[in-house]
Amino acid sequence: MRIDILSLFPEMFVPLKTSIIGRAEKNNKLQINVHDIRSYTKDKHKKCDDTPFGGGAGMVMTPQPLADAILSIDPNHESTRIYMSPKGKTLCQKLVVEYAKKDWLLFLCGHYEGVDQRVLDLFIDEELSIGDYVLTGGEIPAMATVDAVCRYVDGVISGDSLGEESFASGMLEYPHYTRPQEFMGLKVPDVLVSGNHQEIDKWRKNKAQEITKMYRPDLIGKDKEE
Ligand code: SAH
Repeated sequence: MRIDILSLFPEMFVPLKTSIIGRAEKNNKLQINVHDIRSYTKDKHKKCDDTPFGGGAGMVMTPQPLADAILSIDPNHESTRIYMSPKGKTLCQKLVVEYAKKDWLLFLCGHYEGVDQRVLDLFIDEELSIGDYVLTGGEIPAMATVDAVCRYVDGVISGDSLGEESFASGMLEYPHYTRPQEFMGLKVPDVLVSGNHQEIDKWRKNKAQEITKMYRPDLIGKDKEE
C-alpha cells in the first residue's frame, strides 16, 4: 500500500517511523511519504495561511500550495484523497478495513481553522474524523488512521491477532496475562495455565461477552446488523 500525507508539520510524523509501522515500511510492506505543504507555496515569504473572508478568528490554509501539492503527487487522481476533519464521518474498525483494501491513500492534514473550502470541493474524496472533539491539527488524526489501517496490510502483523481483537467480531477483547503467574498477590486465572484449549476458548469468549456488556453494550449484535 502507498500512503501520502500532506502536512505543514512533517516533522511530527516520527511515530510512523517507529515500532511495527516503521518496521513494515523498512521491509517494503508499505510506502509512507510525508510531504511538506510549505515546499509547494508560491508565496515569497513561504506563507500558507491567511485571514478568513467574512472575518472571524483564526487563519485558513490557502488553496494554492494544497492544490499544487495534490496535483503533483497524484496528478491522475488515482489515490483516495482524505481530508482529516472533525466534520467528517467518524473512523471505526469497519472503515479501517475498507481503507486497508485500497492501494493508495492520500491524507491532507489541516491546521489552524482548517483549509479553504474550494480545496475540498475540487480535490478531496472524503472527510474523516477520529471522534467528536477538536485537535489543533490533522497530523495526529492522520497518524491514528494510518496506524489502524496499516495493521491490516499483508505482512504487517499476524492475521491471528487481527481476527481476535476488539471490534473484530462486534465485541471487545478478553483480558491478557503473561509471566509471572502471581504478581502483587494477584494470580493468573487457573484455566489459562490448565493447557485445556477448549476451556481456555470458552473462558475467553465469556470474558469478552462480560466486558462488552459492561463497557460497550451498544456493540452487541451490531456486526450482524451491518
Ligand atoms: N475550525 C474547525 C476545526 C479546525 S481544527 C471546525 O470547527 O470544524 C484544525 C485541523 O485539525 C482541522 O483542519 C483538521 O484537519 C484537524 N482536526 C481537528 N480535529 C479533528 C478530528 N476530530 N478528526 C480529524 N481531524 C481533526
